[in-house]
Amino acid sequence: MRGNQVDTREWEITQPASGREQRRAQAVAAIPSWYSPWGHLAFPSFVGLGMIACSIAFLEHPSPVELLAVPVVATLVNLNEWHIHRNVLHRRSWPLEILFWRHTPEHHVIFVRDDMAMRATREFRLVLIPFYGILAIFMTTLPITAALWFLVSHNVALLWVATTMGYVVAYEWLHLAYHLPESNPIGRSRLIRRLRAHHAMHHTPELMQRWNFNVTVPLADWLLGTIYRGQER
Ligand SMILES: [Zn+2]
Ligand SMILES: [Zn+2]
Repeated sequence: MRGNQVDTREWEITQPASGREQRRAQAVAAIPSWYSPWGHLAFPSFVGLGMIACSIAFLEHPSPVELLAVPVVATLVNLNEWHIHRNVLHRRSWPLEILFWRHTPEHHVIFVRDDMAMRATREFRLVLIPFYGILAIFMTTLPITAALWFLVSHNVALLWVATTMGYVVAYEWLHLAYHLPESNPIGRSRLIRRLRAHHAMHHTPELMQRWNFNVTVPLADWLLGTIYRGQER
């Protein structure tokens, strides 16, 4: 039963090139004239790196146990990335419907496994999350930050902020790198090629609702058994 859910089946079929071109032309035409692709990339990057720098500056002799917060938080955020991608970006969920509409019927129709590359920097708009996303994530996770600050330790709260903000920046940079032309020096690197292969498989419309939900490191996909290995072929 799909209940209130939007029926995604029409997007789970690879569309003919002409249909995809039309969707792309519509999406590019809808980008406002004032849109700055480099500004869209720079804003979350500076905010994220700035928050990391501030958090580290305020650390006071963190103990090895406190430093463990970094891998623990990174692992939890990786599981959350899987959850958000699967259940918010691929299934319309209030109040974040905008993320669904930008992702499943747009990002996934325009970019498919064998045609992953952006054609112009203006297409950053079709890949990056909204520019204010990093601030929204910081604000909505403030209760967790506060709980860690008051109940655990100031250092753990600061490491939480640094790790989550670093994760958002890594997500944006990696996702953008996967959608660069393969001839681009960044797109050509071995690490990006490996990670891109995982994400590109997710860009197969027939597979996108079920497989390869991690965009950064496919840890949660591995833990939860959602790495695509030809199961449906
Ligand atoms: Zn993508
Ligand atoms: Zn997706």
